Amino acid sequence: MKRSTQTASESARSAFEARRERLLQDFHAARERGLTPRLHKRTSNLFRIRPPADRAARLDVTDFRHVIAIDPERRVAEVEGMTTYEDLVEAALPYGLMPAVVPQLKTITVGGAVTGGGIESSSFRYGFVHETVEALEILDGRGETVHAQPDNEHRALFYGFANSYGTLGYALRVWIQLIPVRPYVQVIHTHHSDPDEYFNNMAETCRAARHHERPTAFIDGAVFDETNLYQTEGSFVDEAESVSRYTFMDIYYRSIRRKEQDTLTTRDYLWRWDTDWFWCSRAYGMEIPALRFLAGALGLLNSATYWKLRDWNERGRILERLGLLRDVEWVIQDVEIPVTHAPTFLAFLHREIGIRPIWICPAQAARTDTVYPLYRTDPDTLYINFGFWGGKKTDQPDGYHNRLIEERVAELEGKKSLYSTSFFTEEDFWARYNRPAHDALKTQYDPENTFPDLYTKCVGTPG
Ligand SMILES: Cc1cc2nc3c(=O)[nH]c(=O)nc-3n(C[C@H](O)[C@H](O)[C@H](O)COP(=O)(O)OP(=O)(O)OC[C@H]3O[C@@H](n4cnc5c(N)ncnc54)[C@H](O)[C@@H]3O)c2cc1C
Repeated sequence: MKRSTQTASESARSAFEARRERLLQDFHAARERGLTPRLHKRTSNLFRIRPPADRAARLDVTDFRHVIAIDPERRVAEVEGMTTYEDLVEAALPYGLMPAVVPQLKTITVGGAVTGGGIESSSFRYGFVHETVEALEILDGRGETVHAQPDNEHRALFYGFANSYGTLGYALRVWIQLIPVRPYVQVIHTHHSDPDEYFNNMAETCRAARHHERPTAFIDGAVFDETNLYQTEGSFVDEAESVSRYTFMDIYYRSIRRKEQDTLTTRDYLWRWDTDWFWCSRAYGMEIPALRFLAGALGLLNSATYWKLRDWNERGRILERLGLLRDVEWVIQDVEIPVTHAPTFLAFLHREIGIRPIWICPAQAARTDTVYPLYRTDPDTLYINFGFWGGKKTDQPDGYHNRLIEERVAELEGKKSLYSTSFFTEEDFWARYNRPAHDALKTQYDPENTFPDLYTKCVGTPG
């Protein structure tokens, strides 16, 4: 059995090497024709739509989606960069393992999450996805593949890759940490009405769980309004009398207010937010029972469907043309705020933005001796991720509220993810995202600027 697993891994590795060879040829062929190689993959979770770059060549990486090997002893998975978390989870669960941090949307890929600050309810213990990576194989801007790990000559690239969003290169292969699981996750939803008490309690739950004073494996939460704040604590269990499923007519986020306690299979727990894209599926009528039934029967209740609908609408500006989106600013953001400032930031969100519910997820570095220069956080600080996604009715110019959020996040010593729209001035951006470190890595790994710089890609024009 062990031998056949080894043979399967060896043949998956050879197939990877052949794909890599072909990709390198495509990369250099594009460069010789004076074209700029740009990532081409089937799915995305990006929320900043840009016109394609001038003279771009699509670098087809759709095939880089295989789990090459699972090492149950070392608890490490070796995967291709565009492997979705759905596929990685499916490969790891039979070994009684899961990735240490599993972002909630099934089509998020390992490479996307490593470079884009992935986070989930186990992040209070393991930190961001990039902190769970052991090594990376990267196709850099020179068209070379580089093996980067914490203790080799490419360590600066290893650490600098987090929050680089493909501006230094693309992860083709990733070695990522796995953790043991049990069959079920029992969740306890605790109601709070006072934000100070809510965040104090969350900080204490995280501290106790990190010190193994309680069996908690997962912590996140949802804020429905000023006085309805919920913390959800999940623990692995071996047995369950009954389990809930939130993959069809039942809606997970609604269950938080309805049930104090619940049990899901571990797989269903990991994808609890995917069926309804947290709560954003309601914008597509998925809380109307007949429509939901139909979509469910057709296998369409998932974040990939909603993202495609949204992308299609955005590119065609359909709702706008129908006059349905007049005076609306899209605010689709995830930000990290130190827990001591979390009540202040929440009050700001209620007052100035008003998009609800809000997803809450605590995160803290697992190790204090590592620095990710393009996404520097204080390893001794517990951060609270606030996820808020929706349209804001306004008579202000586009970007007004997003800019307000960027300023408030900076004042409160927080960090903003770059997967969505940003409105920073170039000066403000580089003050927050470490230009010297970025430029030094660019000089070494992409001296001819094959890929755009981080500001141009995430705030400015094409990428
Ligand atoms: C509503 C919503 C909720 C979200 N919630 C969460 C959440 O809870 N937890 C979480 O972790 N994330 C969340 N995200 C963000 C998501 O993790 C990031 O957008 C992530 O980067 C998407 O990864 P992807 O694989 O879909 O990459 P894509 O969307 O295809 O690409 C994202 C960026 O990463 C770059 N990229 C992609 N693959 C690679 C690679 N292999 N190497 C280098 N660069 C690459 C692309 O060039 C692009 O700039 C959320 C997004 C949305 C829209």
